[in-house]
Amino acid sequence: MALVHVQCPQCQSIDVVQYGKQAHGTQRYHCNNPDCQRTIFLLQDHDKGRLPAVKQQIVDMTLNGSGVRDIVRVLGVSSATVIDVLKKKSRA
Ligand SMILES: [Zn+2]
Repeated sequence: MALVHVQCPQCQSIDVVQYGKQAHGTQRYHCNNPDCQRTIFLLQDHDKGRLPAVKQQIVDMTLNGSGVRDIVRVLGVSSATVIDVLKKKSRA
């Protein structure tokens, strides 16, 4: 089973657990950070690749030797997003 790394949109903590589901099946997450205002949140997969934190993770994973397919699987972004981020990064 692949572990999906989820970050709290409020505090960017990765200390997050799955917390049941919405009626229509969307996974809910619970932030374990005691200082965080936002305890329960949903993941919005469609714009995940636009988050600066995800872009940074793509770069970090690449530097750590992960391939595009690894990143797609772990972060849940599309391969097009990964390649796009890396292209923009290498140009900068
Ligand atoms: Zn949080």
